[in-house]
Amino acid sequence: MTITVENISFSYGPRQALKDVSFSLNTGGFHALLGPNGAGKSTLFSLLTRLYQLQSGEITIDEKSIKLQPAELMQRLGVVFQQSTLDLDLTVKQNLLYHASLHGISSRNALPRIETELSRMEMQDRLDDKVRSLNGGHRRRVEIARALLHQPDIMLLDEPTVGLDPQTRRSLNQHVRKLCEEDNLTVLWATHLMEEINSDDPVILLHKGAVKINGKASELLNQSGANNLTDAFHILTENPEMGAPA
Ligand code: ADP
Ligand code: MG
Repeated sequence: MTITVENISFSYGPRQALKDVSFSLNTGGFHALLGPNGAGKSTLFSLLTRLYQLQSGEITIDEKSIKLQPAELMQRLGVVFQQSTLDLDLTVKQNLLYHASLHGISSRNALPRIETELSRMEMQDRLDDKVRSLNGGHRRRVEIARALLHQPDIMLLDEPTVGLDPQTRRSLNQHVRKLCEEDNLTVLWATHLMEEINSDDPVILLHKGAVKINGKASELLNQSGANNLTDAFHILTENPEMGAPA
């Protein structure tokens, strides 16, 4: 499995959000899409999920353009959006049954699939609880279980841990890493929180809409001279015009 993003530029009217972005992701494992607020992470996700039409460039999955085989290729993606999209007044089961039916999963298969994915997230005992009664971390786990119901091989998560406490963030991140190992799932995890990144993770660092680093996270250390990833991230994304004439 290979996802290739080739020369993507995207503008909202006069505001350019992505500038000639290219990279490719290979089969399996945890990949991070790093960038501060406004870097273009969500815009890129919206193009990958075809919420927005490409303005220029090309995205392919296994060399097939997402423009040409949208339904088939979209079926291979599981998505957790930046904002939660669960209905708080429905139970976990109701939310997931609805999603299963949207994906054409038969009613006979839906409940077993829901139970399998919830138990992988250690949420099987919350099936009949209203989402409103779950804490933020548990809601996110339900969203991850939901994104996996139709058995995608690629999962996109857009800042899934924002607003969660550090322990909950850590446990969610570890759960997703475990899924990568168990299923050979390819994950693209967008974040600006460097605690979620290991130095040997493959990363794409976006800054002001352009790819600044495409390599291992340790490359941030090499390029910034910092000795930890958090400092490196700040150095690489806070002073972009350093040294440039005013
Ligand atoms: P990120 O997810 O990394 O925070 P976004 O993709 O949301 O970045 O935003 C990239 C840039 O595009 C920012 O400058 C943002 O203000 C702008 N932008 C995002 N969505 C819209 C929109 N719907 N209309 C106009 N500008 C937008
Ligand atoms: Mg965003």
